[in-house]
Amino acid sequence: MQAIDTLTPCPCGNMAGYTHCCGPLHEGAVAQTAESLMRSRYSAYVLKREDYLLATWHSSNRPASLKLATQQPAPTWLGLDVKHHEEDGEHATVEFVARLRYGGGKAQRMHEISRFVREQGRWYYLDGRFPEG
Ligand SMILES: [Zn+2]
Repeated sequence: MQAIDTLTPCPCGNMAGYTHCCGPLHEGAVAQTAESLMRSRYSAYVLKREDYLLATWHSSNRPASLKLATQQPAPTWLGLDVKHHEEDGEHATVEFVARLRYGGGKAQRMHEISRFVREQGRWYYLDGRFPEG
């Protein structure tokens, strides 16, 4: 267990703090919405929780490894902005903009519309596409 329970705000930007936001999900709690799963996956990128990212990736599309620990240049995550969240039964989409920087490079925006699917009460990340702009 890492000593990360004092993260306020949460890496995903929630002022409630990590222990009241993404922390419980990283420890196995069920995400109530696709948006909260998406936020917890962003936080997992920040915290390099590769295990969590793979566990919440739908098996049909899951990579074998993300190699976050050895990624070069390493990304610095600068913030998350959830633009839109839509759920329809067992399917959901979340549109967001994440800001990051690779090494000493310029900050860049990653604009993605992610698709999620719920199976046996748990949301999984399916895939994402990158709209213009
Ligand atoms: Zn969070």
